[in-house]
Amino acid sequence: MRCARVRKSLTAYLDSELPADLCQEMATHLQCCTSCRQSWTRLRQLDGLMRVAPAVALPDGFSERVLSRARQRDANPRPAERASLPLIGRWKSLPLMQRAAAAAVLITGITTGVLMGWQTGGKQSAQARANSAAFDDPVVVFNLDYLSSDPDGSLPRAYLSLVSAQKGPGE
Ligand SMILES: [Zn+2]
Repeated sequence: MRCARVRKSLTAYLDSELPADLCQEMATHLQCCTSCRQSWTRLRQLDGLMRVAPAVALPDGFSERVLSRARQRDANPRPAERASLPLIGRWKSLPLMQRAAAAAVLITGITTGVLMGWQTGGKQSAQARANSAAFDDPVVVFNLDYLSSDPDGSLPRAYLSLVSAQKGPGE
């Protein structure tokens, strides 16, 4: 079983949604793959935190306000919200401040992802160096393959393809 498939199936594995034979393959892979085992440990830690986190009380009338806004938008969708609009079109139709905010969020996310991946990659450098092909692949080094589960045309997928395209011609 390949690492990318294991990473994609971790959530389903955690939720006991996988067939028995796949569960066995996952367990076997997680026993011998340090990188996937770290992702598995992080996911379980996150799940544990989510389970003990206190429920946040919503302000009075919150649900009604959200539903009312949703109905208004359903009735009068703005051009930027039309699903048929491609990514670039949606980007161009955003007001300047929203574009700046989206760019800031994207840059922060990329920086955080790279720093987190760099820390993880640093810890794994001995193992990664042993496999020079994997060490040269930023997707492997920075553990970015979880981004591949996002839909086509999304910002994470665009970032992933950008990073993948920077690999050498020998890859
Ligand atoms: Zn693996």
